[in-house]
Amino acid sequence: MVIHMLNVEKCRGCGKCIEICGMELWELIDWEDGTKKARAVEEAPEICNGCKCCQDACPEDAIEIRVE
Ligand code: SF4
Ligand code: SF4
Repeated sequence: MVIHMLNVEKCRGCGKCIEICGMELWELIDWEDGTKKARAVEEAPEICNGCKCCQDACPEDAIEIRVE
């Protein structure tokens, strides 16, 4: 199982995690302050391959992928 940790304080909603993930496991959601934030889709823990491309691609260092 893969856990997708997102630091919402750091996320700028740039969408690079979405662009890089070939499995389409990230989406952007509307945040309460009017900005966008990334969120892993519901099925992500089960089907993510743990490649960490999203973690590496995030310019804000907002993603941490934990493989358990
Ligand atoms: S790449 Fe990082 S900053 Fe950009 S939307 Fe994804 S988590 Fe947020
Ligand atoms: S670790 Fe790889 S497969 Fe999993 S969400 Fe990130 S980019 Fe997608």
